This record gives sequence, C-alpha cells and structure tokens, in this order.
Amino acid sequence: MEIAFTKADKLKDHPEDSALGFGTCFTDYMFNMDYSPEKGWHNARIEPYGPIQMDPSTMVLHYGQSIFEGLKAYKTKSGTIQLFRPNDNLQRLNRSGRMLCMPELDQKMVLKALKELVKIEKDWIPSEPGTSLYIRPTIIATDPYVGLRSSHTYRFFIILSPVGAYYPEGFDPVKIWVTTDHVRAVRGGVGTAKTAGNYAASLFATELAHKEGYTQVLWLDGVELKYIEEVGSMNIFFMIGDELVTPELNRSILAGVTRDSVIQLAKSWGMKVVERKISIDEIYEAHDNGTLKEVFGSGTAAVISPVGMIKFKGREISIADGEVGPVAAKLFNELMAIQYGSSEDPFGWTVPVI
Ligand SMILES: *Cc1c(COP(=O)(O)O)cnc(C)c1O
Repeated sequence: MEIAFTKADKLKDHPEDSALGFGTCFTDYMFNMDYSPEKGWHNARIEPYGPIQMDPSTMVLHYGQSIFEGLKAYKTKSGTIQLFRPNDNLQRLNRSGRMLCMPELDQKMVLKALKELVKIEKDWIPSEPGTSLYIRPTIIATDPYVGLRSSHTYRFFIILSPVGAYYPEGFDPVKIWVTTDHVRAVRGGVGTAKTAGNYAASLFATELAHKEGYTQVLWLDGVELKYIEEVGSMNIFFMIGDELVTPELNRSILAGVTRDSVIQLAKSWGMKVVERKISIDEIYEAHDNGTLKEVFGSGTAAVISPVGMIKFKGREISIADGEVGPVAAKLFNELMAIQYGSSEDPFGWTVPVI
C-alpha cells in the first residue's frame, strides 16, 4: 500500500529535552488510515498532526470501541534510531482488536508506516539519557450511529510524543494501595485488551489511592479478591527468597511486553522465574518471615518501577526498607542499555529505523 504524504505549512518549535514531561507534546505529523467493509484498510497517509472531526453520534464516543498501544523509539549514542519490540506491540494491537470486534491490521504494512513516520520526525527524538519518543497507535470506531453493535468503519492513527526521563530525580520506590472494593477486570472480560474502558474503570480507585497518599492501586483478581493481578497499568514482580515471581496470565491481566522482557532477561541470568497465582496474604506472610526481598512494576513508560510500601486492609508493610532492590536496579539498567543500544541485544528485541 502506498503511503501519501501531505507537508505541513509550518513546523512547531521543539521543546528542550530538560523541559519534557509525559504525553503533553506531540510532533508535526501523524499517520492515518481508514477502514470500511468494502475497501478494507485504505487511504494510508502521513499528514500534519491535527484534530479529528467527528459526528457527535460517532460510536467510539458512546460505546468505547477503542484500542491502543504504547511503545518507544530511542536514539542511540551513535545517533541511530531504534524501536523496542514493535512487532510484539502490533501483535497485541491485533489481539485487542479481535476482542473488541475490530478489523485486523497488516502488521508488516503498519510497521513500515511507523518507521516512515518516525523517520520523518527523527529530529523530534530527544537525546538526553532516559528520554525517548513515545508512540501511540490507536484504533477507534467511526460509524455515526447510536445503537449497540460493532462499528463497520474505523480509523487507525499513530501519534508521537517526545517524553522526558521517567525518573528525573532518581529511581524512587512508590507506595501502593491494595483495594478490596474495586476491580480492574475479570476473567472473561476485556482486561487482556488495551481498550479504553479498562482505564476509565481504574480511575475511581486510583483517585481514592491518591487521597490516601499512595501513587498506584494494586489490583486483586475480580472473582475472589485474593490474588494479585497488576499495579496501576503495569505488571508486577516479587522477589521471594531467590525466586522472581509474577502473576500468571490468567485472562484478565494485560500481557506486558516489558513483563515478557523481564522474564526472558532474568532467566538469561540464570534466575529462577515463576509465573503463578500469588495471593496478597502470601505477600504479607513472606514479608513477616523475611523472604520478601523486592517488589516492582514493569511497563513501557517507566520500564521498572520499584515499590517501597504496600497497604492492605489498614496494614502497611515496607519493602527493602523503601530502597531500590538489586534485582530491580539490574533489570532497569540492562533493559535501558538494550533499548538505547549501549548493550548487546541477544534477544533480537530492537528494530532499527535508521
Ligand atoms: C500497557 C499495560 C501494561 C504494560 O505493558 P507494556 O507492554 O509492558 O508496556 C500493563 N498493564 C496494563 C493494564 C497496561 O495497560
């Protein structure tokens, strides 16, 4: 498929690397493509970043048929640009799409379009340590129709946002709050899809956590409210004794690309990694008998997010005395080194753009 290009009349000023936050600044161009049952995916184009005009009855606004991805492009020391595991993200986008009754994308074509867009916007990629270009592919239902069914037409777009270092003031452990009044997703629901409604569903409990002075919610399973699922919008890991333990993919947890990278990397170091059910009670027992060494989250935005404190049913426990543990630190450093090309990539995770 040919990708049309429309040049912008005027380009924006670039922010200083040091002034970058997360998700507030967008580049000059975006990729767009439309779907209809007659034409399939068509009208692939790179054009100036700008508003999407929509009829107020557009289905995505009413029924939430919307999926997205999040990945990053990195500038290496030698000035080349690389993506981290983009095929895994595109595969997951298609998996989310199947769950939401949306048409699949041609992964190869989309990767080519993504590379082309990133190449055009290469000067937007910051180079300070820890900074990167965040990539947000999204699909939305576009039929102008009020009535519940899946849409017949869709828009796929990719926008790019230069982002600052996630830990500009250092790699500080966060405090997390375990809720037994709210759940993020249940087995048989859409928890395994990166779909808008899951995030809307997480807001209320997250605001309660903030009011209590905690950064994130630790979600328990939606059936028994007993087993650990995820933290905020990250997967979670526990060092218990000499084992790295993470909840198994149980049909409500989102299968993170970073989660999989952590598992593969830790195994390559000879660590014992176990994917299984973990109850919150087991975590408290491990804390009490001294075997709970570290807790950390994993996700594209933060890479690794150490947890220093957990509160469950009124009892707060401190992890590793609120310090960053050695496993979290080693995983963080090695993943970053692979992403920024300063370390060998024996896994074939990185994909060059230029
Ligand atoms: C995106 C996401 C993650 C992390 O996935 P990565 O592919 O590692 O970025 C974990 N949990 C939820 C709910 C998510 O939306």
